[in-house]
Amino acid sequence: MTETQPQDNQGNDSTAAPDRLLKICHDIAALSEGVNIIAVSKTFSVDAIAPVLAAGHRIFGENRVQEAAEKWPDLKETYPDTELHLIGALQSNKAAQAVALFDVIHSLDRIKLARALADEMKRQDRHLKILVQINTGKEGQKSGISPEETVEFVRTCRDELGLNIAGLMCLPPQQDVAGPHFALLQKLSQQCDAPLLSMGMSGDYEEAIKFGATHIRLGTAIFGPRTQKL
Ligand SMILES: *Cc1c(COP(=O)(O)O)cnc(C)c1O
Repeated sequence: MTETQPQDNQGNDSTAAPDRLLKICHDIAALSEGVNIIAVSKTFSVDAIAPVLAAGHRIFGENRVQEAAEKWPDLKETYPDTELHLIGALQSNKAAQAVALFDVIHSLDRIKLARALADEMKRQDRHLKILVQINTGKEGQKSGISPEETVEFVRTCRDELGLNIAGLMCLPPQQDVAGPHFALLQKLSQQCDAPLLSMGMSGDYEEAIKFGATHIRLGTAIFGPRTQKL
């Protein structure tokens, strides 16, 4: 995010997102240095995303491969230094499309997907940073590697598959206080020597930064409420 002001200043939606992002940048700079804001643009149109790119922001997140494939190839051509992060569940049969389109994947949650990603990255000679999603709340319906299996899973991905496991990601259970989950993720990341920590969303990013978040994932705080529930 640069200090560049958006071109039109009518107070309409297209200027609101860059302004909100700029304010968040200033606020979090007081908490910590070097926190990356992933602008989560899922459900938002290219028209809503463009002003944020024009204002200088370059890190974006999407949670669905198909939706990202419809929106991002043209935007990336215009802004080639954009870093696109996949933050949602990935099916193995979409690994090829994901490797071609994204720069970082936050949602590696099983060995079958790890193998599919490793094969695709070799085939395409594109070597993405990968974060492992950890099910810190051990929720039955939520994907992610259990805390107990994290060190072993990361080791297998690195040693046997050659994946660049750069960090860990979590989505704390909605009803829980988030702090203990962030603390657990921080501890696991140290044990794995995987320093990127993707944690904290619009409602709890300041707490996540206290526990060392390197990447916070902000949707509504930047783009406003989503009309489509995902
Ligand atoms: C949608 C989403 C976010 C952003 O959520 P907000 O509450 O709108 O900031 C962050 N992480 C993941 C995995 C998401 O799916």
